[in-house]
Amino acid sequence: MQPKRFIIAALVVVLIVFSAVSVNATTEDGVAIAVGINSPQAIVADGTSVTVKGQDTVEVSITAGEASGFTIDVLAIEFRYDTNLLEITSADCVSKYSSENVTIQVVDDMISIGLQNYSNDQGLSITLTFKVKAGAHGTADISIARILGIKNNVMVVPTVDNEELAVYVHTYGAGVVTAPTCTTEGFTEYTCTDEDCGEKVVTNKVSALGHAPGAAATCTTNQVCTREGCGVELAPALGHAPGAAATCTTNQVCTREGCGVELAPALGHAPGAAATCTTNQVCTREGCGVELVPALGHAPGAAATCTTNQVCTREGCGVEIAPANGHQMGDWVVDKEATTKEEGSKSQSCANCDHKLVEKIPMVEKDPFPWWIIVIVVVVLVGGFACYWFFVVKKKEN
Ligand SMILES: [Zn+2]
Ligand SMILES: [Zn+2]
Ligand SMILES: [Zn+2]
Ligand SMILES: [Zn+2]
Ligand SMILES: [Zn+2]
Ligand SMILES: [Zn+2]
Repeated sequence: MQPKRFIIAALVVVLIVFSAVSVNATTEDGVAIAVGINSPQAIVADGTSVTVKGQDTVEVSITAGEASGFTIDVLAIEFRYDTNLLEITSADCVSKYSSENVTIQVVDDMISIGLQNYSNDQGLSITLTFKVKAGAHGTADISIARILGIKNNVMVVPTVDNEELAVYVHTYGAGVVTAPTCTTEGFTEYTCTDEDCGEKVVTNKVSALGHAPGAAATCTTNQVCTREGCGVELAPALGHAPGAAATCTTNQVCTREGCGVELAPALGHAPGAAATCTTNQVCTREGCGVELVPALGHAPGAAATCTTNQVCTREGCGVEIAPANGHQMGDWVVDKEATTKEEGSKSQSCANCDHKLVEKIPMVEKDPFPWWIIVIVVVVLVGGFACYWFFVVKKKEN
């Protein structure tokens, strides 16, 4: 045995003894050992435990001194492992240490690693590789049983992450793969086929895919996820956006771009009072007022006569269109001369109709006896006689 190896081997022994008698030692914050477990074949590995099956490889990595300025003179680490389930296949120090400064010993279930370096500032990386024994089942621990260092001739106890690592060995068949969906993650589930175990392990998790939004929601269609088997509604249909209210002649339509669906048909005109001779029939709907039927014009009745107007014959109208003409009377015509014994008659006829005015002509009166002549004669005779009597007779007497 070379001197250095002897020194380290001796140190390990010392280490064991010291630990056994619990010698006081200072902790050294600068000397931190990190131990992690992984396996390229593991079903699940989280750094402090690994779930594997027979024949799988389990790797344990030990790192130290990565921190800048790490130095230690001597470091000794002792691992223990379950030889029923695991067998060690290699123990390598891939440190930047000179390999001459590293001693690795495997004895039964104990692995001792010793390092000696007087001016180390380069870090450390050890890899222990185990093989899971065929047919193994159960939990195998890999633990750091002891660790100790010497720095500047003072014994130090490095801080250690994960002093104990768990190796869960099951007998897994083929995993059952569950694909991820929009909302659920994918995974592979393994079930231990060992009798009375049935342990299930879920691994290879894949994040949920998230929905794959389809065409944007429209008035009548939802936006849904287009992923096969999903179809979840992502946004409800928007409903129509009603435009201006329907009028007599225009529909109410949806104003949303690309829609234009008719929401309400045109109302049609609301006919007002029927057209008359002089008034139109119009739509009574507010804001419309369209002429539906023009005024009918009068319906002239029989032409005006001498005595009757011409009027509109349309029911409810009766407007006078032309006034009566009046009779056109001719001259009076004597139809029968009056006599002293009988009245006469005369008539006047309308040139345009049968209208005829008839008037009586009074009887002609007999000429009355001219008593006045007799009176005048009497007066003249009497006067003459008187004058005679006065002027002739009287003067003769005289
Ligand atoms: Zn099992
Ligand atoms: Zn979806
Ligand atoms: Zn619409
Ligand atoms: Zn109208
Ligand atoms: Zn009329
Ligand atoms: Zn007439």
